[in-house]
Amino acid sequence: MSAQETAVPDAEASATSASDGPSLGERLQAFVGQTTGPPVRAWDPVNQPMIRHWVEAMGDHNPVYVDDAAAREAGFPGVIAPATMLQAWTMRGLRASEAADAARANRELKGASPNDRLMMMLDEAGFTSVVATNCDQHYVRPLVPGDFLTCTSVIDSVSTEKATGLGTGHFVTTRLEYTVQNDELVATMLFRILKFRPRPKADAAAPASVPTSSASAAASTSAASTSAASTSAPSSVPSSGSAPRPKRPRPALTQDNRFFFDGAKEHKLLIQRCSNCGTLRHPPRPSCAKCQSFEWGTVTASGRGTIYSFVVNHYPQVPAFDYPLVVALVELEEGTRLVANVADITPDSVFIGMPVIAGFEAFDDDLTLPVFRPDPGATGTGGVATGGAGAQDVAQDAAQDERTS
Ligand SMILES: [Zn+2]
Repeated sequence: MSAQETAVPDAEASATSASDGPSLGERLQAFVGQTTGPPVRAWDPVNQPMIRHWVEAMGDHNPVYVDDAAAREAGFPGVIAPATMLQAWTMRGLRASEAADAARANRELKGASPNDRLMMMLDEAGFTSVVATNCDQHYVRPLVPGDFLTCTSVIDSVSTEKATGLGTGHFVTTRLEYTVQNDELVATMLFRILKFRPRPKADAAAPASVPTSSASAAASTSAASTSAASTSAPSSVPSSGSAPRPKRPRPALTQDNRFFFDGAKEHKLLIQRCSNCGTLRHPPRPSCAKCQSFEWGTVTASGRGTIYSFVVNHYPQVPAFDYPLVVALVELEEGTRLVANVADITPDSVFIGMPVIAGFEAFDDDLTLPVFRPDPGATGTGGVATGGAGAQDVAQDAAQDERTS
C-alpha cells in the first residue's frame, strides 16, 4: 500500500526548537546513511523443514519448494526457498522483540542503535504512531538449503514532514541487504514506515481507524474494510464525560468496498458478485478467488440469514456503542458471511443458528450500517433451516457454555 502524502510547507520551520540547536529536520537527516544496528545473522541456514512449514501455512503448492526432482525439472539445482520467505530467515523472534520494545518504552538509550535513537527522537517530537507503508524486495538469486544469511541495514532516507490521511509524520525508509557465505549479495529490500502524530482529541467526533503499530495497522485496515460492526477502539476516543456522543468509527473506504456502504445508505445489503463466473464474495476484494477475474458487480441480498458465530462484547467500552454489544458473524442465505451487530435481543438469548433478518440503522448523516434482528418470519415456518430443533438445542447449549466458561 502507499500512503497519500503532501508536503507541509512550514513544518520544518515550526519544528525548530526555541533554542539555537539544529532543527528537528536537521537532526533527522543526520541519521541518513547510518546503519540501523549491528548485522543480523540468521539463526539457522536455509533448510527444508522451515520451508515446508511456510508453504503449508501459506497454502503454496508449487513443488519446487519441496521436491528435488520437480525443482531440477524447472531448471533449479534442487529445491529452492520461496523468495517471499526472505525476512523469515533473520527474524529475531518474539522474546527478543519484546525485550527491544520494553527497552524503547523505558527510554533506555544506553546501547541503543541509530534506528532506536531515530525512533525515540520522532516519539519525543510527538510522532508516536507507526504504520508500515511500503516494502520492495529485489531477489538476485533463489535461496537454497545451506545458504546462511546475514542482513545489514542502513537508514536510506527520512522525509520532511508530510500530511497524510493518517496524520502528519515522517516517512523513514530502511535499505536492507541480504548476503550469504562469501559475502554474496542475494537480495535487497527497501522498507518504508510512516511515523506519525495521532489525531488530536478535537477530531474524536469522527475518528479514523488509527493504527498504533504495524501489526495492528493490518488488522485495523482489514477490520474496517470488512466488518460493519467494528469494535476496535480508536486511540483518540475519550473514555467518559458529558460531551456529545462520539460517532462510530469510520470504515476505511476503498474502491472495492465503497459499494457496500453506499448500498447500506439506500437500505440495500449488497454482495459482490464475479461478472465472469458468478461467484459471490464477501468481504469485498478486487478479484475473484475462483477465476481471478477483476470484473465484478453486485447483487442485493434478501437480508435473511442465520447467526454463524457471535461474541458479546463487554469491554473495552467505546462511547459510540451500547453495551453489552452483540457482534455476530451472520451467514446470509446467499452463502456469504458478514460481521454485524444484532439488536433488539438480550445477549443471553442469542444462539448459533438463530434466524435473523437485516435492517438498517443510520448512526449519523454519513454512516448507515446493516443491523440484524431475530427473524419473526422464520419462527415455526421452517423458513430458515437450522438443522432441526435438536441441532438448535445443541447449538444453544454450546453458546451457553461459551458464555459461562
Ligand atoms: Zn469468478
